[in-house]
Amino acid sequence: MHSSELNIAIIGAGVIGLAVAAEMAQKHRGVYVFERNRTFGLETSSRNSEVIHAGIYNPPGSLKAKLCVEGRELLYELCARHGISHRKLGKIIVAVDEDEFGKLERLCEQGRENGVDDLRFLSRKELRQLEPEVEGIGGLLSPSTGILDVHALMSFFHSQAKRSGAEFVFNAEVIGLEKTGTKYRLGVRDREGIQSVLARIVINCASLNSDQIAQLAGIDTSEAGYRLHYCKGEYFSLSPPQRDLVSRLVYPVPEESGLGIHITRDIEGKLRLGPNAYYIDNIDYKVDDTHKEAFYQAVKRFLPAIEREWLAPDFAGIRSKLQGPGDGFRDFVIAHEDKRGLPGLINLIGIESPGLTASPAVARYVAGMIE
Ligand SMILES: Cc1cc2nc3c(=O)[nH]c(=O)nc-3n(C[C@H](O)[C@H](O)[C@H](O)COP(=O)(O)OP(=O)(O)OC[C@H]3O[C@@H](n4cnc5c(N)ncnc54)[C@H](O)[C@@H]3O)c2cc1C
Repeated sequence: MHSSELNIAIIGAGVIGLAVAAEMAQKHRGVYVFERNRTFGLETSSRNSEVIHAGIYNPPGSLKAKLCVEGRELLYELCARHGISHRKLGKIIVAVDEDEFGKLERLCEQGRENGVDDLRFLSRKELRQLEPEVEGIGGLLSPSTGILDVHALMSFFHSQAKRSGAEFVFNAEVIGLEKTGTKYRLGVRDREGIQSVLARIVINCASLNSDQIAQLAGIDTSEAGYRLHYCKGEYFSLSPPQRDLVSRLVYPVPEESGLGIHITRDIEGKLRLGPNAYYIDNIDYKVDDTHKEAFYQAVKRFLPAIEREWLAPDFAGIRSKLQGPGDGFRDFVIAHEDKRGLPGLINLIGIESPGLTASPAVARYVAGMIE
């Protein structure tokens, strides 16, 4: 590593750090990405539903809403142009009673305000026609929701960044970050020990550790509202005798800390239920088999044909949330910290769902901050 070349240091090579690296490397020289794992994308970015969200769930005007709608368009374009596996298979949010139907109406209004212009209400009959196994009094159809192969997307960003000259330093954990004059000194732990490197710009894409990185730079994370809360989401695989049990993504009306346990399908056609949502103190990716009954009951409400035996523990992911239990909405933090006396430091904190969908738009947004 030649420290003199180190212009921009990106911490973390998940889908966000990769997208940012790909965008930055097109315009700047000396872009370095530091990733503590042996390669990219081994954490949150490979432990999610792989859904390209339409942009329904977040309040109008929020970064989450704006960057989701923008990112969705960019993603479909990118996937089509570069042969990244994806399917715009559509999704249905099902209302099982009148109360839920009311919530769907509000959700639909919000989606339309966010610029999701193809949402359509379904009557019970239409719901039955589209998804014969799904039971409800009606639903909301989102035709532009889809799925993609996240690993293929990350490989694409990685190669694009490398082709444009970005350097990836794996097995390199950032453990120190200090402002010195007009630059930042990063302490990087690798196999040989602790290296010290200087960078003009630092972009913190460390997801589950992004609050700790901000703290290293001297920010009081409690005061800034940057403290993260971990919220686990487990998945159970669903293996019904007939693979075409549903042909779209089927969701319940959303709950407080997640979108509700839904039926997803990955790009290979494998069905899954999940994720649930509960706060934890320590990172642990084990799936608790005793949660199976709750998954079964949650989905049975709108998929009466489901059998317990079709469910098996699959994997879990952890959301990096700015809101703790019972807290209201919190938006993505994407902040240039010049007002805190840290010019050139950009923090990305709380990039939970729809972070994957938003990733190319997040990258453009960050690039705009640097210009
Ligand atoms: C259960 C679940 C389901 C989801 N479903 C969807 C979905 O369907 N659609 C959607 O749009 N979004 C979804 N999301 C959100 C999406 O997965 C995330 O927004 C996105 O993956 C975040 O990417 P990231 O790069 O910030 O995080 P990560 O992939 O976690 O990457 C961060 C990287 O930083 C590295 N790192 C951390 N600390 C350091 C350090 N000190 N030094 C060096 N490297 C470091 C880590 O090793 C890691 O590789 C879901 C999330 C969860 C948890």
